Amino acid sequence: MATKRDYYEVLGVDRKASDDDIKRAFKRLAIKYHPDRNKDPDAGEKFQEINEAYQVLSDPAKRQAYDAGGFEAVDSSFGGGAGQGFDPFGGAGADFADIFDTIFGGAAGGRSRQRRSSGPVPQRGRDMRVVIDLTLEEAVKGITKDIKLNVLSTCPECHGEGTKDPKSRKECPYCHGSGVLVQSNGIFRVQRTCSHCNGEGTVLTKPCKRCNGSGRVLQQRTVKINIPGGLDTGQYVTLAGEGESGIHGGPSGDLIAVVRIKEHKLFKRDGDNLYCEVPISFTTAALGGKVTVPTLDGKIALTIEPGTQTGTTFRLANKGIQPPIAGRRKGHLFCTVVVETPVNLTDYQKDLLKKLDESLSGEEGKDDGKGNAAQSKSKSSDSQPSIKKFIDNMAEFFKNSGQK
Ligand SMILES: [Zn+2]
Ligand SMILES: [Zn+2]
Repeated sequence: MATKRDYYEVLGVDRKASDDDIKRAFKRLAIKYHPDRNKDPDAGEKFQEINEAYQVLSDPAKRQAYDAGGFEAVDSSFGGGAGQGFDPFGGAGADFADIFDTIFGGAAGGRSRQRRSSGPVPQRGRDMRVVIDLTLEEAVKGITKDIKLNVLSTCPECHGEGTKDPKSRKECPYCHGSGVLVQSNGIFRVQRTCSHCNGEGTVLTKPCKRCNGSGRVLQQRTVKINIPGGLDTGQYVTLAGEGESGIHGGPSGDLIAVVRIKEHKLFKRDGDNLYCEVPISFTTAALGGKVTVPTLDGKIALTIEPGTQTGTTFRLANKGIQPPIAGRRKGHLFCTVVVETPVNLTDYQKDLLKKLDESLSGEEGKDDGKGNAAQSKSKSSDSQPSIKKFIDNMAEFFKNSGQK
């Protein structure tokens, strides 16, 4: 697949765009690039790109995952979502048909929003999203958290009916029970939701005082969320039925708990692997020795060979993270050695280092005589291979560029 463009860029909105901004941008672009209306050969592809971006950014959980971890986060945590065979027409679901209903007057997808006046239609409650901040240790082991949430719940006063007197529900006088108002401007027949009854087709003459007839009220609820070990930022747990209550007897939405892992002082995580920088002294690097390194299961002594260079990486097999997927193996821990240059030296220490430097660069040999000097010089290229290579590369660079 060719390089994908950032979803926000595709829709031409910034990262702080509201849901409405995103919906508006999508509508505008979808009308412009719809293959039925735009005969440009690239229109189909463009349309699909726009649609994919919209599917992710219009879904709070997917948008959150995308913000946190990019395309990969959406792909891995939503099982073949974005970028894997999006169906631009069928797969998009009700939301998409909704938008095309308003643009094309109910033509798209053959869905009709005409309703009978027999009563309000049950609607599923919306999904809710909550971000769970975890330390790396919590994420690795798994944790149960009690989260307090304000959730739109079934009104205890009217039990979601919106009124205590069912006879007070009457047909809406504006849309005559259809829930929609149709306007025609000669080209398009524009159908929009009746604002008087919010598309329900009925109005209440005696609405419930507690919920104002909506059938739902905000209630604080404590939800126990069990997060299995191994989840990464952007991955989530779904608690079925813990989202907003449905309307008119519809089912509740789900609660989606998205994991976000805090930065760690020692480890960086990439997938199931962990990375750690281990500073070692200049003398340990030169002479060899043992250093203590952290792992998730405790400390380990790492053997440093004499002559270890800065940037050398040691792999500690199976000391990474166990993913929560059956059959997948544990990751590794990679420790990268960083040689630290000593600071705040005493005069005596400086003197020792000067002598070492003279010895390494062959200066010492000059006093002794020509033979020894030559021998020392050849030693210097053995003892400081990186510096030797750097000097050689630099000489070659200046020779090739014709400078001195
Ligand atoms: Zn009520
Ligand atoms: Zn109405």
